[in-house]
Amino acid sequence: MEKVESFSVLKLNTWIVRQCEAMGLKQPTPIQTNCIPHILSGEDCIGCAKTGSGKTLAFALPILQKLCEESYGIFALVLTPTRELAFQIADQFAVIGKAINLKQCVITGGMDMVLQGQELARRPHIVVATPGRLADHLESCNTFSLKKIKFLVLDEADRLLAGGGDFDKQLKVIFSALPKIRQNLLFSATITDALEKVKEVARNKVFMWEDPAD
Ligand code: ADP
Ligand code: MG
Repeated sequence: MEKVESFSVLKLNTWIVRQCEAMGLKQPTPIQTNCIPHILSGEDCIGCAKTGSGKTLAFALPILQKLCEESYGIFALVLTPTRELAFQIADQFAVIGKAINLKQCVITGGMDMVLQGQELARRPHIVVATPGRLADHLESCNTFSLKKIKFLVLDEADRLLAGGGDFDKQLKVIFSALPKIRQNLLFSATITDALEKVKEVARNKVFMWEDPAD
């Protein structure tokens, strides 16, 4: 797709375009321009572009739009490898989502399990988590369910799916708690080795976009 001048041509609702403008974002980045319309139309998506290219909003904006159209319970689960990334992603959701009173919670290690369990029980719209701590919750309590999520995002998907580490076991626990029908969005700076594994996660129709500039 050609470079576009405004967020408004990506089939995003006016309130989202306004929030972007209020954040000082003038035009979508290439990964946003290319991925957002496909995600809005219901496809799985693999997006690959270098660090700093705006991958978070490439998945956050369409998720927030769909959330407004059909919200109930936990709507989207975003998995990312580190605690720091989890908070960065949640920050971007919060800035755009304040226009709709977005409720989200961040589930990572180093925080109180009981308090986190209570937050999950309040059915946030978005859960941003690292795999280890979320798997701990799934194995230890039943205050919440992920059975009705509509979106699974794997941010830094290559790191989550690289294999060999603890993530393998943790992701198995998490995936078994998810509905089979869901939209899978994978974003990464490099996607190469993870591609085979991606096929296990994603459904048949996958829109894949790799930044030609990288
Ligand atoms: P990454 O691709 O590494 O995940 P991020 O999504 O974290 O990158 O975005 C990096 C920075 O770029 C963030 O501070 C974000 O607010 C900013 N950003 C995202 N989209 C745009 C845009 N369309 N125009 C200008 N800045 C943007
Ligand atoms: Mg990122």
